[in-house]
Amino acid sequence: MTLWLLPFVFFIGAVIGSFINVLVIRSLTGEQFLWGRSHCDSCRRDLEWFELIPLVSFFALRGRCRTCHTPIDIMHPVVELLTASLFAWWFVIGFAFFQLTTQPLMIIQPGFWLLVGLLLLVIFLTDIQAYYIPDWATLMLSLMTLAYRFVLIGFGIYNPQSLAWALFGAALILFFFLFLWLITGGRGMGFGDVKLVFALGLLMEWPAMLVGIFLAFVYGAIVGVGVLIVSRQRRGVPIPFAPFLILGTATALMWGDSLLRWYMQFL
Ligand SMILES: [Zn+2]
Repeated sequence: MTLWLLPFVFFIGAVIGSFINVLVIRSLTGEQFLWGRSHCDSCRRDLEWFELIPLVSFFALRGRCRTCHTPIDIMHPVVELLTASLFAWWFVIGFAFFQLTTQPLMIIQPGFWLLVGLLLLVIFLTDIQAYYIPDWATLMLSLMTLAYRFVLIGFGIYNPQSLAWALFGAALILFFFLFLWLITGGRGMGFGDVKLVFALGLLMEWPAMLVGIFLAFVYGAIVGVGVLIVSRQRRGVPIPFAPFLILGTATALMWGDSLLRWYMQFL
């Protein structure tokens, strides 16, 4: 066990987290993605290297821009910490698991799941901040999942029939959401959610995707009722749906099959 690497992995996660902040902000403002230096969101001044150290800089600067003194968006340190924790968790949990696989899957498998986690984090963040799901993230998630499954089939450790079922199930859920979207006139959820469920369905596979989607509605209902109680007056508070889809997906990926088995014994 090379647990001494953990602080390093945590820091790499924080660096990727600050990159995700840039991706999210630039997805929302339509700015150039990869080129262009980081600048203060308020006075547009280019940032120096010592203002770009994830987590550390925020606390060293006491949460304010050095020149215009505008408070730095709290999302910066929060996302950096979240991503760093995701990396640490992936490293600790995955360690025993990754050793079971052989080359080159030893790289491909953990790499795939880490990228999936990061994409889901981006979608989660853009949706809670702006009710917006970037198409590039949804598309990348679908293509990556398909490519990954094809690689597994190529290595003979994945059944092509499972992929056919995953595609069939994802299409089924896509049409179900399209139907919901049409009858609610797009008020219940955005079209971005309709596209997203296809990608998530592929990821969860059949039949775990049924658990994931069902749980998304359960989580959404719980939070929706909570919001109604807290904000009594404002009735039509819009609640982004992608975060619940993502939490449902995460639950289904970890415990989908056991939850389904548990449920089936009552039938
Ligand atoms: Zn500034």
